[in-house]
Amino acid sequence: MAERRKFKKRFCKYCELKTDFIDYKDLAQLKFSLSERFKIMPRRLTGNCKRHQELVTIAIKRARQTALIPYIVDRKNVVESPFENVR
Ligand SMILES: [Zn+2]
Repeated sequence: MAERRKFKKRFCKYCELKTDFIDYKDLAQLKFSLSERFKIMPRRLTGNCKRHQELVTIAIKRARQTALIPYIVDRKNVVESPFENVR
């Protein structure tokens, strides 16, 4: 094999846990697919399989609607607001 993968093969964390259903209230499970700013991580980074990624996406979107996860993180937490002095 001339070409070898640079990255070790990632496994789907949900397959390892053998979960067939991802509950939107179970934030511990959703955390695997959330970035620091509560964005949904793409599959190429998490290594989830397609089936579970779709389940996670639905669960996260549902969790957002029920206000368990913020849609966006407050900007002040990340960068100081440039408009703060203006107001
Ligand atoms: Zn999976």
